[in-house]
Amino acid sequence: MHPCAAIVTIGSELVDGRLVDTNANRLDERLRRLGFVVAFHVSAGDRPDDIDAALDFVVTRATVVIVSGGLGPTEDDITRDAMARLSGTPLRENAEARAHVEGIFEAFGRDMPPNNEKQALMPEGAHVLPNRAGTAFGFRVDVGEPQTSFFVVPGVPRELEIMFDEQVAPQLVERARALGAPTWASDEIYCFGMSESALDLAIANLCRDADPSVSLNVRDGQVRVTVTASGEDAELAAGRVRERLDAIVSRLGRRVVDRGGRDLPNRVAALLADSGLGLAMAESCTGGLCSSLLTAIPGVSRSLKESVVSYHNDSKVNRLGVDPDLLVCHGAVSAEVAQAMARGARVRAGVDVAVAITGVAGPSGGSQEKPVGRVYLAVDASPLGREPFIEVVERSFGAQGRNRIRSLAAHTALDRLRLYLESQAEDG
Ligand code: ATP
Ligand code: MG
Repeated sequence: MHPCAAIVTIGSELVDGRLVDTNANRLDERLRRLGFVVAFHVSAGDRPDDIDAALDFVVTRATVVIVSGGLGPTEDDITRDAMARLSGTPLRENAEARAHVEGIFEAFGRDMPPNNEKQALMPEGAHVLPNRAGTAFGFRVDVGEPQTSFFVVPGVPRELEIMFDEQVAPQLVERARALGAPTWASDEIYCFGMSESALDLAIANLCRDADPSVSLNVRDGQVRVTVTASGEDAELAAGRVRERLDAIVSRLGRRVVDRGGRDLPNRVAALLADSGLGLAMAESCTGGLCSSLLTAIPGVSRSLKESVVSYHNDSKVNRLGVDPDLLVCHGAVSAEVAQAMARGARVRAGVDVAVAITGVAGPSGGSQEKPVGRVYLAVDASPLGREPFIEVVERSFGAQGRNRIRSLAAHTALDRLRLYLESQAEDG
């Protein structure tokens, strides 16, 4: 039996187009991992009747409800009043919550404005949920028969996540156990170089079960494969996840970015660190995006020595030493120029390996021969005591929009580098 959960997010900005509801999304995954099936998302604006209607909808349909938002000090923060109406109990000041709000103002040396007093109010009999990241305490109220537990937490995403993980999750683990729900485990891998549908096809017969379940989602060309399974205890559930992931990995082979679950930039950074090789980059149409993906990973400074955004032809000649004749004969977007850029970047930086990217990001600048979305990616390597390596690949991403083409180009370049580094690691 999987206990049923619902998420109620409160705030007018969520239903009038000003804000995307990321809280519900973050809570979904967490609840699923704890063994709950999220059956509903309900959002309501800051009007008492609408909030009451949202709470009335979920109270008969879910065992556990997470309510986010509207716990602040301002006029439009009215979630606590709605919870009091739902539970039929008056609001009372909670001494612990009051001391907490006062303490925060004291720490900043400021007087507490009177409207913050209401942040200490919660329905009588509610169980307090402390908040170490902000002023608003949350609370739990159990309503109805059969009982539905409402966990009411602030809307600020950081506060919500900390409070859920530290205060709510442990209570939900207990609750799931009491309801006889199995323990759930889940793990993921990233794949690259295959469309979502091709990947789906390749592993179709491994995706049919409800448990272990396999879900795919794609971002920047990386397909994330998530496996979730239940078990009598955490170890058994994790074992079932591992078994299914192993089967998927053996089916997909090198398309799998990392068996350990890292995404492409993290995997490349780790491979670089292990190899001890120094890297340089030369980027044209991606304007530094590929370097930016890598420099987001801590510790990559030991590997990445230099990155050149070489946009104009003059720069390709002057900075990277690309032969002007190549530019004239083949154009800046060509296999020949990509290769020369990588070679120039490697030699001029005095490193072992370099990656170069050149392409037509559009929307203009395409031609019959080189349409928008055409990209060339080169890897040039010459590590000490190893075979030199040169590779240029051509990709046509189509007219998908400038930023998407740039992102796919940057990720594909990282993937080519990954494959090279993996082959080197395998050769010992
Ligand atoms: P506070 O004490 O800060 O007022 P609160 O509980 O009243 O907390 P809200 O006022 O509803 O929370 O939201 C505070 C901010 O948190 C919002 O302005 C918004 O930026 C963000 N936020 C609220 N709900 C969501 C949501 N569902 N998804 C993403 N962001 C949200
Ligand atoms: Mg608020």
